[in-house]
Amino acid sequence: MQRFRKWLQALEELVFPPEEPCGLCRERPALEVGACRPCLQGLNITWEKGQVHGYTFFSLFPYQGLGRSLIHSMKFQGRLDIAAAFGRLLGLACREEPELAGVDLLVPVPLAPLRLQERGFNQAGVLADNITRVWKRPLSHQVVRVRETRPQSGLSLQERRRNLRRAFALLPGAAFQGKSCLIVDDVITSGQTFYALAKLIEQHGGRPLGLFAARTEAVGGEGIAEKL
Ligand SMILES: [Zn+2]
Repeated sequence: MQRFRKWLQALEELVFPPEEPCGLCRERPALEVGACRPCLQGLNITWEKGQVHGYTFFSLFPYQGLGRSLIHSMKFQGRLDIAAAFGRLLGLACREEPELAGVDLLVPVPLAPLRLQERGFNQAGVLADNITRVWKRPLSHQVVRVRETRPQSGLSLQERRRNLRRAFALLPGAAFQGKSCLIVDDVITSGQTFYALAKLIEQHGGRPLGLFAARTEAVGGEGIAEKL
């Protein structure tokens, strides 16, 4: 009987392949977008276009509630499956956004080497990798963090700017001239990191735009989570 059941189950799975679990909660089956309905509702997904320090960016959900706790799990518990699910959702959104149709390159915001060593991965890089699975664009790894920047938490706006000045540099052979470059990161808060990198790309002839999974309520204000 046991054997028969097993055989029956195998046959059923062949006809109806088991559904993939939701990439966010890993409990409920995922919809086609890679996450389940309750998670998507909990994230309060609202694709928004914003402006900060003169640069345009797009973001997928507010940095609060479920979205905030998932971003924390992704970064501080190494939940790469969450990054994969967010990357897929971002990629699908980009695919539908006419203003992003002309994007030539994805530029994940690099982490400081020390932070990268501690964490073992750069969440922006993992997001970008997964975006390209559904939205085919080349990735650029030509930007590096050249200076160890102190965590941005608790710093004044002026201190943040000082902290980020000359934080990024381009590797030899970097080619942004005439290219539309989409800067990718997990969260946008004060927008200072985005601004510093956008400025650098612009100085090298590129046209920068931003893409973030989450945004704080008042981007450009005194957010605390930027690039932790
Ligand atoms: Zn879920």
